[in-house]
Amino acid sequence: KNYLAQPNRYDSMTYNRAGKSGVLLPAISLGLWHNFGFVDNIQNGREVLRTAFDLGITHFDLANNYGPPYGSAEENFGTIFKKDFQSYRDELFIASKAGYDMWPGPYGNLGSRKYLIASLDKSLKRMGLDYVDIFYHHRPDPDTPLEETMGALADIVRQGKALYVGISNYEPKETKEAAKLLKEMKVPFILHQAKYSIFDKWVEDGLLDTLDDAGVGCIAFSPLAQGMLTNKYVNGIPKDSRAAKNFTYLETTQVQENLEKIKGLAKIADERGQKLSQMAIAWLLKRPTVASVLVGASSSNQLKENVAALNNLEFSDKEIEKINQFS
Ligand code: NDP
Repeated sequence: KNYLAQPNRYDSMTYNRAGKSGVLLPAISLGLWHNFGFVDNIQNGREVLRTAFDLGITHFDLANNYGPPYGSAEENFGTIFKKDFQSYRDELFIASKAGYDMWPGPYGNLGSRKYLIASLDKSLKRMGLDYVDIFYHHRPDPDTPLEETMGALADIVRQGKALYVGISNYEPKETKEAAKLLKEMKVPFILHQAKYSIFDKWVEDGLLDTLDDAGVGCIAFSPLAQGMLTNKYVNGIPKDSRAAKNFTYLETTQVQENLEKIKGLAKIADERGQKLSQMAIAWLLKRPTVASVLVGASSSNQLKENVAALNNLEFSDKEIEKINQFS
């Protein structure tokens, strides 16, 4: 069936500025790392994307290697985009990345100009797009000069293949250097994509301050610790969950090790009248540097639940204290 987006889609979402840029991002964005590969059901993926846009989620996050297999999330996204979203292109903010292993040999990984430029060209073909809104270097490469990697990002913008650039998983020091180089080249560097959740607060140890200084926003990935910060594992490991699947990066042992904390946090959320997922998202949005919380979802109901986090973003000092005991 043809897709017509909900006319009221912009009524309830909150939009935050990405650093000191002109770009507003939905407080909650959707990532396609899981649930959109050839191993997944594309009809479900299509429904999740439609639900997202109907809820005011204008930002979709992809990367060259999302799947599995690598490339398949972009290819599936391209198929869905062509059917449902072509006429909404200018209402969407679409991301891709390169930096992890993608194809064999010395030119399909890390941070060379050779890799980044070829990879983005392939991503654009798979998605059927002329440009992405933001292109990220996915992780730091200790052996390639930062000038080369940032120079490649600059040329990608000048070629019109990306409007803005970002980096991901860079430490504060590397981030500062990248920001300086990009500023010198007048390249719009607007986002750092970093792992951030109640279970992983490494960004609070210098990165968020560095980003504030540079006028760059943070977009928080794995905000639900891949599903651990939801109510799903409280009573065991469901068969269709990420932890139960063998091609994912969430081990059942990880869930078991964190189970007491998960239960403790779920209780606090319950006292707030929220699901744990909603509390975990609200907790991240307290930080003004965090422009958006980048969730994954294996169903449209999960996404609806997650977006309803916006109904209660307030925390008392006491609640924060209690949450800290489990983080
Ligand atoms: P989350 O921490 O949000 O985990 C998402 C998973 O949690 C879902 O796939 C689902 O798993 C489960 N879940 C989500 N909502 C609910 C809910 N309401 N109730 C119960 N379970 C729920 O994020 P991800 O780890 O998926 O990361 C999000 C995005 O961040 C990625 O898609 C990607 O775009 C980006 N990312 C970037 C990285 C980088 O290096 N730059 C690295 C990792 C991610 P289930 O299958 O069990 O239902």
